[in-house]
Amino acid sequence: MGAMVGVTTSAVAAHDSKNPTITVIAAIVAAVAISRVIVAYSLPYRKQGNTKLLERVFETGAFSYATALGTLAAACIALDAPTIIQLMTFTAAIGYGAGISARNAGRLPIAIGQLMLSITPACIVLISKPGIAPRFLAASLALFALAMISIAVNVFRVLRNSIAAAETSSRLAEKMQVLARSDVVTGLLNRAGLNHHLAEQLPKIDPDKKFALFWMDLDRFKEVNDSLGHQTGDKLLAEIASRLKACAPSEATVARFGGDEFIVACEMTGRREVEQLASRMMDEISRPIRIDDDRLEIASSMGIALLPDDGEDFDTLMQGADLALYRSKVNGRKQVTFFDPSMTRNLVRRREIETELRLALQRDELSIFFQPLVDLETGRIRAFEALVRWFHPEKGELRPDEFIPVAEETGAIITLGNWITAQAAKAAAQWPEDITIAVNLSPLQIKAPGAALGILSALRDAKLSPARLELEITETVLLDHSQNTENFINELADAGVRFALDDFGTGYSSLGYLNKYPFSKIKVDRSFVSGINQGKKSDAIIRAVSGMGATLGMEIVAEGLETIEQVRAVSEAGCTLGQGYYFSRPVPDYLAAMLLAKERESASGKTRRRG
Ligand code: C2E
Ligand code: CA
Ligand code: CA
Repeated sequence: MGAMVGVTTSAVAAHDSKNPTITVIAAIVAAVAISRVIVAYSLPYRKQGNTKLLERVFETGAFSYATALGTLAAACIALDAPTIIQLMTFTAAIGYGAGISARNAGRLPIAIGQLMLSITPACIVLISKPGIAPRFLAASLALFALAMISIAVNVFRVLRNSIAAAETSSRLAEKMQVLARSDVVTGLLNRAGLNHHLAEQLPKIDPDKKFALFWMDLDRFKEVNDSLGHQTGDKLLAEIASRLKACAPSEATVARFGGDEFIVACEMTGRREVEQLASRMMDEISRPIRIDDDRLEIASSMGIALLPDDGEDFDTLMQGADLALYRSKVNGRKQVTFFDPSMTRNLVRRREIETELRLALQRDELSIFFQPLVDLETGRIRAFEALVRWFHPEKGELRPDEFIPVAEETGAIITLGNWITAQAAKAAAQWPEDITIAVNLSPLQIKAPGAALGILSALRDAKLSPARLELEITETVLLDHSQNTENFINELADAGVRFALDDFGTGYSSLGYLNKYPFSKIKVDRSFVSGINQGKKSDAIIRAVSGMGATLGMEIVAEGLETIEQVRAVSEAGCTLGQGYYFSRPVPDYLAAMLLAKERESASGKTRRRG
């Protein structure tokens, strides 16, 4: 528009003044105006973003145009063009100078330069004119220029400050966003960061490759935190984070989730590579960690889901890896599990169990079965193990392996466990004095506050002597060396309650525990017994454990005896007690009482016959 005004003004001035000098200057004004428009629209350097060159071109054009316009106005005054033409060209020059100094205030030298170039020629001509009016006009023009410069400087300052403020706040916003997406302890991405990162990454994945999501959960991290303090816990997490970063491919996304969960996500060529990376990461985590003066060893469980095999989007991938991780934990931790679709079905069942378990106790769907432990030498029942049973009205009989882990996870095991102990104690109180009752305890039950008192009060209510109760615990309970566990065991042992180490041989089988805690029995896991005919190794293990048991004064129980051959083999190997279908399946309390009665009857029969 400015250029158009320049062109028309100069055309009219040339036409009306009929003066060759004015016509030449007018032609220059028009030429500069037109060429500026052409240059502005056709410059190839605009695309390259070469701002320096752009500025120079603009500056040259601006100064030439201002000079041309200013000179036109000055020429019209000097050469006494018709008054209206003088007024027109003068107004055009002054108007341009004033307008441009505000518009270009962001570049002060250009703004002031244009202002001065458009005003000065007229000013000079006016001073040289005779009379007061032209000189007065020249003086007020000078004042006007000063005022315009001051306005331009002010506008420039305002602009500069607000740009600086905008830059600062955008830098701050960027910083905040980085902070909001990262984990303070490890510097890795957090949940929000991972979501954001993967949402960006997933659409770019090569369709010929696999995208793997590894979800890791440190085993028993909470105990490190509780026993050594949060600072040590944080250092441990940071160390694991840096190990994972170092061992994952450089383009992998590494994040920390929740307390002790880590996620690594990256593109892989195939399943083999996924497996290799998984085992590398597991090794890295379990490598001993030195923190201050502590040497820590921590293991982890892992679940893996793959794209496109296990799902199409981020959410399904996460869900798959989570389910696979859960399976790793259920299977005894320290494992790597790949997602498979059956896990989703299991999840549904698990959720059902979770909700229905709460009602099961009220609805009277649970009961306790009893399985005898038989003296391998005399063949007589010495104890019963209490095994919980759930008869679900629709699903039928549910296995403890299926609902006990759910109860443990939801915490329902505390109520359930108390109920089981109370029921078992009540049943045992009806049996002869020399028969003991064995009750399985979950780790969580032991850690619950007042756990020992609860058991003692159940015994009191049932009027059962503490010496007749045996608590079966697995090694996992002892692994954490927690003071709570130790107090629990000691408190009950002092009251006369006995302890059995359950499922021996499946876990770490660390012999250290046997010395440290007052176990009266070791129960050798079923897997050793059923393998007795096939492998020589399990036989050797049973022999070794039996030998040790004899030395330490502990009884050795062989679990899962199903055939007479197995009974003979374990008995020959040195086990003192046997348990299994060969003797009896777990049975309800009245049948357990009947087994006892029958045994006593035949025993007394024998005595009578002998007598
Ligand atoms: P466990 O403590 O090792 O219990 C022995 C399991 O072996 C029982 O399975 C029993 O029915 C089974 N069994 C006994 N003899 C034989 C045999 O000859 N052959 C075979 N194949 N199996 C035999 P159950 O009752 O299904 O219990 C499974 C596990 O669930 C138990 O393993 C125990 O860890 C847990 N559990 C059961 N009842 C309770 C409970 O009341 N409280 C807690 N915390 N856990 C329980
Ligand atoms: Ca048991
Ligand atoms: Ca067992």
